[in-house]
Amino acid sequence: MPQNYHQPANASGVTIREVGLDEAQALIADNLPVLDVREPVEVEQGMLQGAIHIPLGQVADRIESELPQKSTPVLVYCAGGVRSFAAAEIMKALGYADPISLAPGFNGWKNAGLPWTTPGPSSPALSARYSRHLLLPEVGKKGQETLLNSRVLVVGAGGLGSPALLYLAAAGIGHIGVIDDDLVDQSNLQRQIIHGTSDVGIPKVDSAMQAIAELNPDVVVEPIQEWLSKEIVLDLVSRFDVILDGADNFATRYLINDACVLLGKPNVHGGVDRFRGQATVFSLPEGPCYRCLFDEPPPPGTALNCAEAGVLGVVPGIIGLVQATESIKLLLGIGEPLIGRLLTLDALPMTFREIPIRKDPGCPMCGPDGPSNLDDIEYTEFSCAIRATTSTAG
Ligand SMILES: [Zn+2]
Repeated sequence: MPQNYHQPANASGVTIREVGLDEAQALIADNLPVLDVREPVEVEQGMLQGAIHIPLGQVADRIESELPQKSTPVLVYCAGGVRSFAAAEIMKALGYADPISLAPGFNGWKNAGLPWTTPGPSSPALSARYSRHLLLPEVGKKGQETLLNSRVLVVGAGGLGSPALLYLAAAGIGHIGVIDDDLVDQSNLQRQIIHGTSDVGIPKVDSAMQAIAELNPDVVVEPIQEWLSKEIVLDLVSRFDVILDGADNFATRYLINDACVLLGKPNVHGGVDRFRGQATVFSLPEGPCYRCLFDEPPPPGTALNCAEAGVLGVVPGIIGLVQATESIKLLLGIGEPLIGRLLTLDALPMTFREIPIRKDPGCPMCGPDGPSNLDDIEYTEFSCAIRATTSTAG
């Protein structure tokens, strides 16, 4: 069906473009936003992949917040082309440059045997939840689907893990593993913002799971209330795409590093100490691992204890969100990951610096003589010790 211009009978005199199936397919291939204005009960039966859903009766109230870019053409559809035309008129009146009505509607689309989907976690734009991601060419429908099909393991639901978990969940990471053996304590609440006052005394993984369920039901949370040990680490890490290290002790940090090196998984590292923090991406073949920088934990007695040293609560918030950002970039394959670069923060002067870090050719883990398994490596508890340039989450 060729495109045509329909002159409505109303007094407004606005011109709404109507298109047939061929042109609609071309517009969708160009990645323009698609708006479904049918009722929820109709959408449940099937919809166009990636469409944003706003029922006709709510278009006037919601369209500007959910599709703010008015200069971009928008393909609007309903069941048979009547409500989409009405929605397009509303959008025109609100200043949208080119709302386009799909004349044969979803029924015509479906009857022609064209692809459609049923809404569910793999249908990212079922609601307007991800509309701000869909507007970014670097993310878009494809990227959002990638995120919804991604798996991130967050080690520790503490100072670094809390903000990272919340933003990863909000971004629609489809499967989030969270491992922490601890219970929520009153002293955590100053920075571990995924937990609330009523969560004190319950397992951190349960508290985190409840917060994420409230934030985004698209996310499946896998709570693991366990100490991360050598016995489980390889099985666990192998099931995830990205590992976010929010651990509060050196033994766990080395264990995560070594498992990530062996399995070739990105280890998104963060650490904090009082007013300072640092973040980088370790363990990938093209960059250094944690042991390239620090081949051994600091000897006991030479390092500060983080519970004594203290930490300004917002600092793990900033660093945890750098880690969440790097995780999302790695999953989407966009931007420049923090590989071979250590980003440091000093919150008192508020300075960020970048320190180049290199792969050590003689690294005991990722070097040519590194082990092929964890069998002969000891992981001893060094509490939350800190030394000059490394630190822990607390
Ligand atoms: Zn190394």
